[in-house]
Amino acid sequence: MGLRDWLQPPRRVVVLFFVIALTLVGAMAGLAWRFLDQDRALERQRTQDRLDRSADVITAALGRGVAEAREALTRLSSLEPTELPAAAMRWAAALEADALLVILTPDGVDAFPDGRLLYRPIPAPQRGPPAVVFATGEALEFRQQDLAGAAAAFRQLTASADVAVRAGALLRLARVERKAGQYARALDTYARLAEMGTAMVGEAVASLVARHARLAVLREQGRGAEVEREAASLAEDLRAGTWTLSRAAYRFYAEDLAGYALPALDSASSAQLERAEANANAVGELWARWMSGDDERRQDGSEVVTWRGHPVLLLWRGTASRGAALVAGPDQVDRGWLAELRPTLDREQVTFMLADASGNGLIGSISAEAGPLVTRTAAETRLPWTLRVASGNRAADLAQYAERRRLVVLGLVALILLVVAGLAAAIRGVGRELEVARLQSEFVAAVSHELRTPLTALRQFTELLASDRVRPEDQRRRYYGVMQRETSRLQRLVEGLLDFGRMEAGALEFHRTSFPVRELVDEVVSEFREAAAEDGWTVELADRLPVPTRIHADSEAIGRAIWNLLDNAAKYSPDHRTVWVEVRRENGQVAVAVRDRGIGIPQAERATIFDKFVRGASAGQVGAKGTGIGLAMVRHIVDAHHGTVTVESEPGKGSTFTLRLPVEE
Ligand code: ADP
Repeated sequence: MGLRDWLQPPRRVVVLFFVIALTLVGAMAGLAWRFLDQDRALERQRTQDRLDRSADVITAALGRGVAEAREALTRLSSLEPTELPAAAMRWAAALEADALLVILTPDGVDAFPDGRLLYRPIPAPQRGPPAVVFATGEALEFRQQDLAGAAAAFRQLTASADVAVRAGALLRLARVERKAGQYARALDTYARLAEMGTAMVGEAVASLVARHARLAVLREQGRGAEVEREAASLAEDLRAGTWTLSRAAYRFYAEDLAGYALPALDSASSAQLERAEANANAVGELWARWMSGDDERRQDGSEVVTWRGHPVLLLWRGTASRGAALVAGPDQVDRGWLAELRPTLDREQVTFMLADASGNGLIGSISAEAGPLVTRTAAETRLPWTLRVASGNRAADLAQYAERRRLVVLGLVALILLVVAGLAAAIRGVGRELEVARLQSEFVAAVSHELRTPLTALRQFTELLASDRVRPEDQRRRYYGVMQRETSRLQRLVEGLLDFGRMEAGALEFHRTSFPVRELVDEVVSEFREAAAEDGWTVELADRLPVPTRIHADSEAIGRAIWNLLDNAAKYSPDHRTVWVEVRRENGQVAVAVRDRGIGIPQAERATIFDKFVRGASAGQVGAKGTGIGLAMVRHIVDAHHGTVTVESEPGKGSTFTLRLPVEE
């Protein structure tokens, strides 16, 4: 089956086009889907690259920070003990508030700067003076219950040149005075002891012990305001790392002070305290590990120790006898080593987090909705943390992608609409072409038929006349009359076809002259009357033109247009053989109306009958011959003269065609 056959019936064309449209739309949708898919993959890749890049940068910066710290630690640990404190102090001064430097020795640790270490390992507590020094006083106090004697004995010792003896004596004197009910004196004595600062009484620091004891005395005396004030100041000093304390001592005082009504800490201070405790704890662990580790372990190490959710970074270097360590909280890492990176990371819109082995965050946090993650484990980076990097603005990433997807979908919809509209137009166009082709073939058949009828008649009459068998003169004359009518019909038909051909080719020319309409109408009507009278038609002309009205037109063409209307009126009015013609003036126009009482034209056909080759459905039914070009010619002629042609009709009752042409002023 050839393509031409395929295209013949319009339904197949529609199906074909529909299939093409579906295929096209399907292909486009598929492409769009693939595009979106690739876009998503690309976006993922881009995010991955961005995160990888950032992870590299962060790793490098941290690596640098750690390396520099290690180097400094190596230098420190190799210094002479005399030079060490000054050097350590210098470096430590540059550290962030949550970091400190510790020097590890088997005797314990030294911390820099002062006041950052709340407690520490104290392996060999200082011994106070031997007990015998205070034996006399204590014998009086405990065994003989002679408080005054005991006080005198201790008071004597308070003048000792040995600080430890003096401190021990003051402590005991205050105790005796307290027992004797001499509270004011006891408080005084404690105050003197407190002034001794870091001197030791036994394993404890004099000023701490004294101030703590004062609190008890004041409380016993019910001096609430003072208790509160002194407790608060003692707690503050304890938090400030004023004393060198063991963990146990720190805990003891901290817990005891918790029993006093202390002003509540704000969240920043309590966080700071927790960090400081975490650091102190880490230092304890570090020392224990350093002590128990082999030489290699002592030489170089790094670790993250977490205490109550606070990870602390430990870096150390050293020898068997001395080590230097950096104890760093998140601020040190973040501000100390990563500060320069912040603008880059902000620009790249990433967030990151450093976590210890069990996942506790040292710096930063990554929310659950952060999307794709890049993880660099401690093993990969040779740093003590696991690094995780995620997009810092996931919502914006997603919004961008959604926007692109929306655009693609919109574009796709627009394309689909375009394809559908294009195909609809194409179907319509093809439909029209097919219709024209059909009409054309009908036209050819009609023309052949139209030509054959007069030719057949002419041939018959010519044969009859030639055979010389027609005798009576009047019959001969009648035959000649018929032949003449058929000839002029044939001529009109051929001329009409030629005109139509010229019109189609755009070569129909009009020769305009000025003439009175009435004369032309009279002429055409009487000519038509003559031709139609034979078949029994009458034409009634009503001339309502007020004065002779002239038009500037091609009289022959206009005459042909009126003839066509008259011809149709007669042709489509088989039962009422009268045609009415009216000529009148209407607002600067001359109107020629041709009315019949024939078959009429259905509403649906009225718009199309002026198209070429179009014949009404009822035209065939009444057996009227025609080619479907008459009205097309009329419209063409009228248009060329800036006029109009309209039709009013009622099926079964008749039609009125009206030509309107501009009057020549
Ligand atoms: P033709 O008369 O050769 O068919 P036309 O172009 O003159 O072609 O007319 C087109 C169609 O208009 C006719 O086929 C007919 O259906 C309809 N028509 C024209 N004039 C009349 C009329 N006076 N009454 C009814 N139908 C008419």
